[in-house]
Amino acid sequence: MITFETSEMIDQVRAMLHGMVKNIVRPIARYYDDHEHERPKELEAFKPIMQAGMGGGKRSKKEKREIKQTEDRIGSNAIGVVGAEELSWGDVGLMLAMPGGGLGNAAVNAVATDEQYERFGMKYCAMAITEPGCGSDASAVSATAVLDGDEYVINGEKIFVTDGDRCEAVVVWATLDKSQGRAAIKSFVVEKGTPGFRVEKLEKKCGIRASDTATMVFEDCRIPRTNLLGDPEIKAEGGFKGVMQTFDNTRPLVAAMAVGCARAAYEFTREALAKEGITIRYDRPCLEQTAVERDLIWMEAQLEVMWLLVERAAWMADNGRPNNLEASIAKAKCGKYGNIIVQKCVEILGPIGYSREYLLEKWMRDNKVNDIYEGTQQIQMLVVARRILDYGRDMLS
Ligand SMILES: Cc1cc2nc3c(=O)[nH]c(=O)nc-3n(C[C@H](O)[C@H](O)[C@H](O)COP(=O)(O)OP(=O)(O)OC[C@H]3O[C@@H](n4cnc5c(N)ncnc54)[C@H](O)[C@@H]3O)c2cc1C
Repeated sequence: MITFETSEMIDQVRAMLHGMVKNIVRPIARYYDDHEHERPKELEAFKPIMQAGMGGGKRSKKEKREIKQTEDRIGSNAIGVVGAEELSWGDVGLMLAMPGGGLGNAAVNAVATDEQYERFGMKYCAMAITEPGCGSDASAVSATAVLDGDEYVINGEKIFVTDGDRCEAVVVWATLDKSQGRAAIKSFVVEKGTPGFRVEKLEKKCGIRASDTATMVFEDCRIPRTNLLGDPEIKAEGGFKGVMQTFDNTRPLVAAMAVGCARAAYEFTREALAKEGITIRYDRPCLEQTAVERDLIWMEAQLEVMWLLVERAAWMADNGRPNNLEASIAKAKCGKYGNIIVQKCVEILGPIGYSREYLLEKWMRDNKVNDIYEGTQQIQMLVVARRILDYGRDMLS
């Protein structure tokens, strides 16, 4: 039977993070929103936590075998989403800027061999998929990787890479042979300082301004052939699916980030109203409640649903069950409703919501991206529809 009861350990993680976030992250949130591209030095304290949490941590083969045999395991995915939610309650941009917790770490944790994990597991890794001509359709990657002796030679341009400037290494998606379609797309770890790899520019953004977002260029960039993650063979069946599976771990994390940010906005709004003597009268019939009370109750209900979807997707990953559908449902719901909640909060508080004196207007800007990266709202809906209808990409795209 599925239970979502939290363990004592998860409760402790949440409580510890809440304290750190409240005392370290919230007080600097406005500063780093105003000072885009400045590295938040205060976040070093979070590095060990991020390394342990991002993408569920690396599992040994023995642990993977044991997972298959367990029925109700609370594992590192469950801890990861609690961490993402709590840190994003503090600040989404700073959560993304935490050293050690890049999206590339999720890919390394998911597919690296033990030897690769030795080399890259503790590095701060970004993830570079998007290109000027490749966004929602990740199979359109045109960066190339050509084997030359014991090295791959990477060429291409990647855009909108989160942590691209501050990371220590980047997981780059490139094709071994464009003519063989998506089966030939593989991921490669490229370390900072490798000749032929440079950060070209940093984006100026609407939200999550504490997080760096970079354009990267690879020109005859040579890396050891042992830096290819996963199977180097081009297999017509299943190869690309394997690369895409990273998203099943990262989409629940992004969904959790949307929950954290929306919860911050909801709590701020409820407290601001309470200061004016406006509280929710749960015991009154709805025809006696005000519109604002009903809005707040609706938000509470949405936050609960959102969180349950996140927990289910993470629980399935922890228990070795395919969660592609559930990860996309969680991401679609949380991305969309996170934004609706934060905008509703701004609407209810009016000038307080819009003023830069408070963080609410910033949360409205920050949360938007949770409905864009790791697959947009529309792409999540496509994945969900394909899964439910059992349609392939050729039937629904
Ligand atoms: C702040 C930020 C950080 C990012 N970080 C990273 C990162 O770390 N690594 C990385 O690789 N990428 C990153 N991205 C890129 C992000 O993943 C892409 O922006 C996203 O995948 C969408 O791709 P696109 O921008 O090319 O939009 P497009 O694919 O051109 O889509 C444009 C619009 O069309 C819609 N659309 C596209 N295809 C369909 C379809 N088949 N059916 C219905 N609607 C469709 C989309 O939903 C969207 O609304 C980041 C983006 C941002 C804004």
